[in-house]
Order: sequence, then structure tokens, then C-alpha cells
Amino acid sequence: MKIVIATKNEGKVREFRKLLQPLGYEPVSLRDENIDAEINEDGDTFEENAHIKAREIYKLTGLPVIADDSGLEVEFLGGAPGIYSARYAGEGATDEEKNQKLLDEMQGVDTPLRNAKFVCALYCILDDKREYCVTGTLEGFIGEEPKGEHGFGYDPIFMIDEDTSLAEVGEEEKNKISHRANAMRKLLEELEKDQ
Ligand code: IMP
Repeated sequence: MKIVIATKNEGKVREFRKLLQPLGYEPVSLRDENIDAEINEDGDTFEENAHIKAREIYKLTGLPVIADDSGLEVEFLGGAPGIYSARYAGEGATDEEKNQKLLDEMQGVDTPLRNAKFVCALYCILDDKREYCVTGTLEGFIGEEPKGEHGFGYDPIFMIDEDTSLAEVGEEEKNKISHRANAMRKLLEELEKDQ
């Protein structure tokens, strides 16, 4: 049974493939299905945005679908950049610019107040009656400067312990501990119960 992963990111599709194949699903990407939808993600939460995306793709394809929305929440900034993580330093800004903006906002803030978490919401629609929403997180804190070469986005300034940024752990390790991995595990539990 095909299941559409509502993302243009092939890396995410690969991850889903590994997890979902044992359940008999065949994850396909938007590209595989030739879908080029402009979806207005105007929800107020990660969960709402994932729901909006899933609903649109389900309407278009009639196939089971999984959509995600993710970002970084910094406690001292009242949860910012949150759902605006991708556009935090303006449309088209680079990851370096976004990280620098966040470091500027956090300048002079002591370590105990630098707590942050990555959040990933997944919304799955199997058919008209079966829908699931799960959320995964990864807790850490904002470092003083960018470190590490792996990953993407805010990884270089997100510390998972005193010495290590998320950009210093390899892809394999990140895929075990990340907000996305945690959300996927939760969704998998739901789908297994459903079988
Ligand atoms: P999206 O859900 O893929 O659109 O991600 C939204 C934004 O959140 C990205 O552009 C990144 O800035 C940030 N983000 C989400 N997940 C991660 C991650 O695993 N590492 C670093 N940044 C992330």
C-alpha cells in the first residue's frame, strides 16, 4: 500500500521507508507522485501545519499520507522561532544567518536560561476515518557559537550536552535521538496498533 510522505526532502522519505516497509507500506515522495502543490501553512502550531499539509495532499491523491512540520523552540524567547524557524531571518536567509540572528538574541543570556527544544509534529491520514497526530521533541540548549559540520539548520548552535552540538554527531546518531525520530517512533506505535 502506497503512503505519500508530504515532503520534497528525499532524506526524510528514506527514513520513513526504513521504518514503514516492515508494516507493508510503500512510502513515496511528492516527486514520485508528480505533485507540485503550493500549500499555505498558516496554522498556529506545528500540529496544525502538519494537518493542513496532510489534508491537502490527501485531497489531491486519495492516498494515505504523512505530513510533518518541525522547528526550534527557545524558552528564553517565549518559544521563538517556533513555527517560523525556516523564515526566522527573513525569506531566503541562509542557515548561518539564522543561527547568527539567534545567537545575537541570546547574547549575555546565562546557560541555565538557554534551554531549547526541537519539535516535530507528524500528521497521518490513512483514510476518511483514521487519522493520527503525534509530536516528538529533542531537548537541549543554545550554545555560544556554531560548532560542527553535520546536519542542517540550527544543528550547529543546538547543544545536546555541555560539549557537543547536534552538528557534531553523525547522521546515524542524529536519526536515533532526533525530534523527527521520536515522532516517527510514536507514529509507528499507532500504526502497529491499527493493523
Ligand atoms: P521543516 O519542517 O522541514 O520545514 O523545517 C522547518 C525549519 O526548522 C528548518 O528550516 C530548520 O531551520 C528547522 N529545523 C527543523 N528540523 C531541524 C533539525 O533537525 N535540525 C536543525 N534545524 C531544524
